[in-house]
Amino acid sequence: MRVVVPYARGLLHPRVVPAIVMQGYDPEMYECVNAVGDPRSYPALLREWFYSGTDFCVIEHDNESRAGFLDDLRDCPEPWCFFAYDLYRPFEEVVNQPTDVSAPLGVDFSALGHTRFRAGLGEEIRELLDAPFFSLTWAARDTFISGALHAIGYVAHRHPGKAFHHHPYQAHERLHEPPRVRVTDLAYNT
Ligand SMILES: [Zn+2]
Repeated sequence: MRVVVPYARGLLHPRVVPAIVMQGYDPEMYECVNAVGDPRSYPALLREWFYSGTDFCVIEHDNESRAGFLDDLRDCPEPWCFFAYDLYRPFEEVVNQPTDVSAPLGVDFSALGHTRFRAGLGEEIRELLDAPFFSLTWAARDTFISGALHAIGYVAHRHPGKAFHHHPYQAHERLHEPPRVRVTDLAYNT
C-alpha cells in the first residue's frame, strides 16, 4: 500500500512522517502547489493517485497516524476506509479522548486526512476526476470525492480509533515544547 503525504510548504507537522515510518511504511512526500491546473496541485495529485492502479492511503500534512492504523487500512477488504480525527483540538485533549467509534468528537465522515482508497476506484469516478471543476486548487476536494463515491453506492468504512489532527498554527506554537507523548508510546485503542 502506498502512503502519500501531500503537504503545503512550511505546514508539514513534524510528527506526521515519524508516525508513518514507525509503522513500517515509506511515505511518499508531495509538496503541493496551490495553483489551478498545476500538476503538483492537490487535486491533480489526487487524480494521479486514483489512476495509478494501486491502493493508496492519504495522510495529510497535519494528520498523525497511530500504531497499527496503516496495517488496518492495508488489510481491510473494504474499498474505501478511513480513520476519523478531531478538528482543531489541542493535542493533549485529543490524546485523552476516548477513541471508540461512538465518541461524539471526531470527524465521522471520510475526509482525506487519513483515508485509504483501493485501486480501481478512480476508474469508477472518472467523470469527477476528469471534470473541469476538479482542477480547482484546495476547495472542497474531499467533498467532491466523497460525493462521487456515495453517488455510486460506496460508503466509507470508519475504523475504530482516531488519528491526531494538528492544526498547523497550534502545532507551530508547540514546536518548542517537549512532546508529552511520544509516537512509540501511543496505545492502539479499539
Ligand atoms: Zn476498512
